[in-house]
Amino acid sequence: MPTKAKNPHLPFGDQQTAPWYGKDILSVKQFSRADLEYIFAVAHEMRIMVERIGTFDLLKGKILANLFFEPSTRTSSSFMAAMKRLGGAVIPISEVKYSSVAKGESLPDTVRTLGCYADVIVIRHPEVGSAALAAKHARKPVINAGDGVGEHPTQALLDTFTIREELGQLDELTVTMLGDLKYGRTVHSLARLLTQFKNIKLNYISPDILRMPKDVMDEVAAKGIPQAEHPTLGKVLAKTDVLYVTRVQRERFEDPAVYEKAKSAYVIGPEVMKGAKEKMIVMHPLPRVTEISMDFDDDPRAAYFRQMEYGLYVRMALLAMVLGKA
Ligand code: ASP
Repeated sequence: MPTKAKNPHLPFGDQQTAPWYGKDILSVKQFSRADLEYIFAVAHEMRIMVERIGTFDLLKGKILANLFFEPSTRTSSSFMAAMKRLGGAVIPISEVKYSSVAKGESLPDTVRTLGCYADVIVIRHPEVGSAALAAKHARKPVINAGDGVGEHPTQALLDTFTIREELGQLDELTVTMLGDLKYGRTVHSLARLLTQFKNIKLNYISPDILRMPKDVMDEVAAKGIPQAEHPTLGKVLAKTDVLYVTRVQRERFEDPAVYEKAKSAYVIGPEVMKGAKEKMIVMHPLPRVTEISMDFDDDPRAAYFRQMEYGLYVRMALLAMVLGKA
């Protein structure tokens, strides 16, 4: 990944030798297992610091531009909270209709502009490849917060951090992904990232029209990870350590009738979960629509709300890393 560490606008005093200083975070493909261990260790430190003192000054004087061209609750607010918990400031741009984008400004010009005012740019955009395009033109590090149906690398990092904190391991696990595997960018990133771990088995459960894309399956296969597609949970639930549920992505369907047919294919609830292990977790990147019933929320295996909180620590770690403070 290109480094922007030579940028003359990055202030004196930053640790320019820190390994992630000035780097873009665009895809999970850029992380080795050692990188992941490092990120998780920093995120774990962040967790301890937040639990002990709440807010501290590691990024005092730094500014984040939070540029969201698509709806977001968790990703956008957790990046803002992460920056503020580290003592930094945020320029939030989520109502792009009130920015120069509405006047026809191009993405390269928008990020060139933000690079003059901010030290790091987080971007979510509906087009695949948009974060890479932004990174090419921004003179500050760019973090991909979701590029259409492409990738959502910070979500995959927080997902794997969640598994590690909840189950105490990332090797030797059976991970079952269920729902919209075609349009769900979180599962594309997570499947790729899980190939870094040992003895992982992946199961995919989806309606036929929403199967995991071939390019993702080919990449996973090339790493020697066993994967299998199933129409229902029946055969795999009892062996699953992580059940990763996703919503059907209504906004990506051209034909609403097709969405209507696919939207309620699976519902996870207490009855279904009787067939699962006692020590396992159910995750969801959220928002949930109907695919996990609310009466499962109090089950100790329901990890999806805790997962959101782990996202704060991972995003704190990433901001500190690209700004040369970790
Ligand atoms: N919040 C996640 C994303 O932005 C999942 C979702 O929207 O379903 O991809």
